[in-house]
Amino acid sequence: MSLHAVRPKILGFIREDVSAWLVALLALLVGGILTGLLAWATFNQFHQQLRQRFQLLASERYSRIEERFEDQEQRLDGLRRFFVNSESVSREEFDGYAKPLLHRTQAYSWAPRVSHTERPLLERVVREEGLSGFTFRELTADGQLQPATERDEYVPVLYTQTQSRLPTPLGYDLLAQALRRSTLERADRNGRMVVSQPLHLVGIEPAYSRGVLLVAPVIRQNLASAAPAGYVMAVISMRQLLADGLPEENHDSLSVRILDLSTDDQHEVLYESTNTAGASDLSSTRLLRLADHDYQVDMRPSAAFLKANHSSVASLVVLGGLLSLLLSVFLYVLVSQRQRALKMVEQRTQELHDREQELRGTHGQLRGVLDAATQVAIIATDLRGIISTFNAGAEQMLGYFSAQVVGHMTLENLHLPRELEARSAELSARYGKPIPTCQAMLVEGGEEGGHEAREWTLVRHDGSHLTVNMLATPVLDEQGLWVGHLAICIDITERKRVHEALAARDLLLKKLSAHVPGGIYQFKMEFDGRFSVIYASDGMRDIYELEPDVLLLNAEAVFARIHPQDTRRVRASILASADTLSPWREEYRVQLPERGLRWVRGEATPEELPGGGVLWHGYISDISDLKRVEEELRALSVTDSLTGIHNRRYFQERLTTEMARVERGGGELSVIMLDIDHFKRINDQHGHAVGDRVLQAVCERIGGRLRRTDVFCRLGGEEFMVLCPDIDGEQAHVLAVELWQGLRSAPIDEVGIVTASFGIASWRAGEGADALLLRADSGVYAAKQAGRDRVEGQMS
Ligand code: GH3
Ligand code: MG
Ligand code: MG
Repeated sequence: MSLHAVRPKILGFIREDVSAWLVALLALLVGGILTGLLAWATFNQFHQQLRQRFQLLASERYSRIEERFEDQEQRLDGLRRFFVNSESVSREEFDGYAKPLLHRTQAYSWAPRVSHTERPLLERVVREEGLSGFTFRELTADGQLQPATERDEYVPVLYTQTQSRLPTPLGYDLLAQALRRSTLERADRNGRMVVSQPLHLVGIEPAYSRGVLLVAPVIRQNLASAAPAGYVMAVISMRQLLADGLPEENHDSLSVRILDLSTDDQHEVLYESTNTAGASDLSSTRLLRLADHDYQVDMRPSAAFLKANHSSVASLVVLGGLLSLLLSVFLYVLVSQRQRALKMVEQRTQELHDREQELRGTHGQLRGVLDAATQVAIIATDLRGIISTFNAGAEQMLGYFSAQVVGHMTLENLHLPRELEARSAELSARYGKPIPTCQAMLVEGGEEGGHEAREWTLVRHDGSHLTVNMLATPVLDEQGLWVGHLAICIDITERKRVHEALAARDLLLKKLSAHVPGGIYQFKMEFDGRFSVIYASDGMRDIYELEPDVLLLNAEAVFARIHPQDTRRVRASILASADTLSPWREEYRVQLPERGLRWVRGEATPEELPGGGVLWHGYISDISDLKRVEEELRALSVTDSLTGIHNRRYFQERLTTEMARVERGGGELSVIMLDIDHFKRINDQHGHAVGDRVLQAVCERIGGRLRRTDVFCRLGGEEFMVLCPDIDGEQAHVLAVELWQGLRSAPIDEVGIVTASFGIASWRAGEGADALLLRADSGVYAAKQAGRDRVEGQMS
């Protein structure tokens, strides 16, 4: 079954492999659409409610204005009827009636119709009533009242009850002004209440001075004429009528405007609220009637209204948007986290699978190693000591089958009991607490320091003993808890036997070498040229005056003992022996701290090592005594026994050496040959013994005058030769003359003056030894011929 098949969907409907971004985007989109729809519905509902509320407010306001219009009409009609029903109304009666009516009305007035003839009487009567300056008046072009001009008829304001504190325009003739006049005429014509066009009211405070006159004709039934006796008027300021008693403009929900429609071309705005109309398409218009006139009343919602009824759509959109965003973020996080978690689970599962495979492989390898290790016994136990692993090596070593041992036997069963007991007693004593035998092979003794293999004797299945090196270590599980032991045993029987045999050989060698003069050694040269001493017998101590241990550590100490003049030769011969693998043999001097200069002889046989080095087995002995005898013999062989100076053999050797030198590198070489004159006579006259002493005396005298480098030899009989390295013929001649003079200058005991004939020869390039000697001999011969007692030979 695949993993996908069993996985539940995220939140029950989102597939796990779908992109988290897509889910988040979809959620945002759906959220956005839902928010939009909700906002749209809310917006519609809000507008509907707003319209309804506005309509309600507007119709209430219309009703109120209408009521006020009607109220104005009714009150004026009341005043009219008051006049109709009275024959005459006095000023006091008018005031008494009109004053209580002054409610939202600027003024009430009574203006009787007066003919041209009645004017003076009426003016007089009124003046007599106390209004001294009373006269009929009219407005001038500049707005001033002046006495009315003569006319047929007048309608002067006679009584006025006003709210204004301005002077009352009593006597003002309404017929004198066109608008007022046309209003009165219309009232006359209609026979009922009319309203004037908007006009500037006289005697009213400027704030309220724009208004209308509501005029009702007073027609008394009892009069013969149908013409009205006069007019009652209400002076109405639209502002007062509409604004008075309503909410303060700033708090008014409605912005109200009244238009006068009486003039067709231009509709005058009679009143307009000062509050600002809100930005809205809501509005209401209605025609309201006052007397005979229709006024257009426009209403719009004020800013205050809109503010009080603001829409919650914006908040809803914000909230919806935020919720959608949150939802999409939530879904994104949920889906991506889930996907990440699933990915991690898959990864971990794969890792576990890989680890399992790896473990299987490792286990297989371990099993293979255990089975392949036939030379090593690997035995694992649990904490109780019961064997759980017994490999092929253990089977082979101990003779048990694994099945016989695993789960049945303990490690202790394989050990030699008395050895375990002894170890147990030893450990118990060391740690001061009893250590059971079953743990004796597991507890570290401390003396070895850490996990060290220890030698144990195990008992085979057949009862025979087996010596092993056993390393026991604790086995820990993953948590580091002790779960058992692992014992690794190596059969050391053979190793032990070899070891013992070697030890016996070492002892034998030690004993033998102790009885041999000189030292036995093994000397090794590594492939890189480094020297080391592998073995040095005690005898080496006497050879180099170095402890064998020191030699083992530092082979170069040997070279420090060798005489500086011999060191290079010894090293060279060692290298030559290594090169050719030929036996090394060398005699050299050593400079010892105690015994001084000694001669030793070394002999060694080289053996090439597999790694590229060379190993010498050798013997060194002190040959100082031998050397001394040898040197004595040598001295004897080259010394003339009578005179003690060098003999002919020595002369020949030195001549050969010196010839080789000059032939090789040039330089000077001279020989002086001398022969005693008439020696035969000396013998004859004084005897052979005296002759011998003369020979000795001559040698002493000549030798005393020679340089250290000159080689003085007796060639035989009474013939001598001086070999002079590094001097030319001239210098040799000087020397020869000196020797000649030295000899002849003083007598020799018993015989007197002894003379000799000298011959000189200096080496010429290309000349051989024989030719050189022949020339010297020729010199002597020439001297003899010339009469003896002289020096002869070439000067150059
Ligand atoms: P000339 O001047 O010509 O050299 O004469 P000469 O007598 O010295 O020469 P000659 O060769 O004739 O004689 C050499 C003698 O030296 C002969 C020999 O007896 C003597 N003679 C040689 N060896 C010894 C020696 O060892 N001891 C002594 N006493 N005489 C020796
Ligand atoms: Mg002679
Ligand atoms: Mg002679």
